[in-house]
Amino acid sequence: VIIPVPVPTMFGGTDKCMLMTFHDQTPLRRVEEMRADFVANASHELRTPLAALSGFIDTLQGPARDDPKARERFLGIMHSQATRMARLIDDLLSLSRVELSAHVRPDTLVDIVPIIRQVVDGLEPLAGERQVEVNVDLPETPAWIAGDREELMRLFENLVENALKYGAAGGKVNVSLVAATSSEGQLELRVLVRDFGPGIAPEHLPRLTERFYRVDVGDSRAQGGTGLGLSLVKHIVNRHRGRLLIESVLKQGATFTACFPQARPPSLS
Ligand code: ADP
Repeated sequence: VIIPVPVPTMFGGTDKCMLMTFHDQTPLRRVEEMRADFVANASHELRTPLAALSGFIDTLQGPARDDPKARERFLGIMHSQATRMARLIDDLLSLSRVELSAHVRPDTLVDIVPIIRQVVDGLEPLAGERQVEVNVDLPETPAWIAGDREELMRLFENLVENALKYGAAGGKVNVSLVAATSSEGQLELRVLVRDFGPGIAPEHLPRLTERFYRVDVGDSRAQGGTGLGLSLVKHIVNRHRGRLLIESVLKQGATFTACFPQARPPSLS
């Protein structure tokens, strides 16, 4: 940026001088590009079910008008497309809420054991549908972390739901909680969600938490996915001063581990 500025001279008048300031625009441009990418992706994702909906409306007003069977079928598809749009909007809102409050750390003392139990219970219908046996291995005693209950629910829901959706139908999923020490010597609580499905190829692993990134878009859509779940998971884990580890071996399954710093039990703090 070049700005002409008046500079006082030795004899009391002013002289024109050029002031040059240099800004490294790279990070700013990157943020702008990411924002543009995000808007383009979100619009595309919303447009797809919307296009299907208006296509079916045209058909219902035209050729299928007097065909009750076709009408019934199309209404069913329209319902699932509308549900998909609602889910996408929900995920987008959750993500922006978490991103907007990135500077505020959630710090209520929460016991994650009942939260995990509640999440697994809530996903029982999906487990039944996929005929997956969910094994839960949780401690009898409370496991305290500083956090936000709702966000943690959302986080575990995403991980367990993914294991049920992308793991092997008719297989099993293990959900466990262990205490461990990180390499920096910090006491951690680790929640592991493990499935024994097809797994994820190594080249996809580093990109899984990007917004809208999906290994197989068709498969994800068929499962009602939006590609935002793991991005939300990563944000929530980060907000809780934690780490997300993803390990997978093709054809053997995947393990997602959310690690949180252990908090002092309420009686000791
Ligand atoms: P989606 O809404 O598509 O499920 P996510 O962000 O939760 O989006 O996951 C991103 C992608 O990662 C999924 O579309 C899927 O391809 C892959 N994925 C997630 N969890 C698993 C898993 N347990 N096993 C295999 N692939 C998985």
